[in-house]
Amino acid sequence: MNEPLVARMREFGTTIFSEMTALAVRTGSINLGQGFPDTDGPAAMLESAVAAIRAGVNQYPPGPGLPELRQAVAEHHKQHYGLLYEPDGEILVTVGATEALAASILALCEAGDEVILFEPYYDSYAAAVALAGAVRRPVALRPVEGRFTFDPGELRAAVGPRTRAILVNSPHNPTGTVFTRDELSLIAALCQEHDLLAITDEVYEHLTFDGVEHVPMATLPGMRERTVMISSAGKTFSVTGWKTGWVCAPAPLVSAVQSVKQFVTFTSGGPWQIAVAHALREELDWVAGLRDSLAVKRDRLMTGLSAAGFGVYRPAGTYFVQTDIRPLGFTDGAELARRLPELAGVVAVPTQVFYDRTALGRHFLRFAFCKKDEIIDEAVARLARLRPS
Ligand SMILES: *Cc1c(COP(=O)(O)O)cnc(C)c1O
Repeated sequence: MNEPLVARMREFGTTIFSEMTALAVRTGSINLGQGFPDTDGPAAMLESAVAAIRAGVNQYPPGPGLPELRQAVAEHHKQHYGLLYEPDGEILVTVGATEALAASILALCEAGDEVILFEPYYDSYAAAVALAGAVRRPVALRPVEGRFTFDPGELRAAVGPRTRAILVNSPHNPTGTVFTRDELSLIAALCQEHDLLAITDEVYEHLTFDGVEHVPMATLPGMRERTVMISSAGKTFSVTGWKTGWVCAPAPLVSAVQSVKQFVTFTSGGPWQIAVAHALREELDWVAGLRDSLAVKRDRLMTGLSAAGFGVYRPAGTYFVQTDIRPLGFTDGAELARRLPELAGVVAVPTQVFYDRTALGRHFLRFAFCKKDEIIDEAVARLARLRPS
């Protein structure tokens, strides 16, 4: 049989997360590849999902999502960001941020439209752009004084007559950069000058460290009307398996996204929505505790990786530390990632897979620190074997 997969998806293969998690399982290695926590979210939130199932919240929720969750998202955005979204019409519940991103791109980008992505980028973006028949235009994030950022000239040069949207992920996976207000303002100015949409992935909105503030793009002057703001419960409440996310935007944009969503999944799981509504209202103190504990884990992993000989970048948010493998004498992160189980019994993700221009990220390796302290300690003890003696 000829290759059955449609041509526009052939470049993607298996997602790196499945591949690396399978490698970890097969080799019995510590998995610092895929970014999922190894502890549960707040107990009352978990109980709330169980109670919802027992109470019979087991049939199709309404297409836009349960009113409880849309109301809770509206309250959250008002309280944290001073952003007002109408629960009826301006908020759509999705199957995680992944569906929100894919449905937004499919709904808002014509075939041939261009979408600007900051590379390295979360791998689902490129696939969603390809499914839409749109074209990605990468703009590099490069380390400048220990932090990944973009060159404003490169960003400006990426905008052309077919540009439809700029996809902005902050806090940024995999670099850990949290865009500053100045950086966001540059992006916002281009969006307004060229009449572009901003599609924002804010799944790590609560996971910033050292007092660094997360600024939603929609809070910048003139941006609410052209921003599709996306987040989800997975990272905030340590429930990556619940796949409950949301889109907030002006009604015509949300309505467009729902037009696609209704034929992909129609609606999203009901019990999770009840529990996440509870969590958004009642569990933000728990999230503050998670943030503090992640900051300590970040330091623990950074210290260990530095001692093992990696070049280490300090993330201001997310679950991830970005490293440079060249000080250890390696040059290709993909090759090292494949050999790491045998060399050290650890799995990490080669950052180059998140680039269009692979060479830009060849020497980076991403490690996740959303793991128990003893796991991090064991991983860094093993990685210490890498140092050339
Ligand atoms: C985890 C992650 C997602 C996916 O979120 P879900 O809610 O699990 O679909 C999207 N974007 C980034 C940057 C992520 O790290």
